Amino acid sequence: MAPTASNTSALLALRCPRCHEGKIFTSRALSVHFADMPEVCPVCGQPTEPEPGFYYGAMFVSYAFSVAIFAVTAAALYFLAGDPAIWVYVAVVGLLATVFTPLSVRYSRMLMLYLFGGVDYQPNWVRYVPRALRPVPAPATSRG
Ligand SMILES: [Zn+2]
Repeated sequence: MAPTASNTSALLALRCPRCHEGKIFTSRALSVHFADMPEVCPVCGQPTEPEPGFYYGAMFVSYAFSVAIFAVTAAALYFLAGDPAIWVYVAVVGLLATVFTPLSVRYSRMLMLYLFGGVDYQPNWVRYVPRALRPVPAPATSRG
């Protein structure tokens, strides 16, 4: 895939926030390994976990996705199915929350990485050197 300059397109395509090209997840969404991530982007080498425990915050984003699934499903059942029995709500919401778990986990992690990862899109990432790795300029000598 050719890299896109749009952060939104790269996020939706689950691509690296730095190069917009490398895949952040190693397996397919319908695999049992749907949450597996490489340690670094396979294209540009950007670490996928900026710091230990970085993705704990993704649980809150995932929770928000679950609440949205619950609210939309409950409203749809109430208005479209004529307010069925409570067990129907529980069964349908539970089923949909389970089915959407891989997408919820993946996109909550991507939102965390794009919003709080501190990584900007670098279209010319090959030549980019992080500030910490730039050579320190030699001090000016006072002796002639
Ligand atoms: Zn990358």
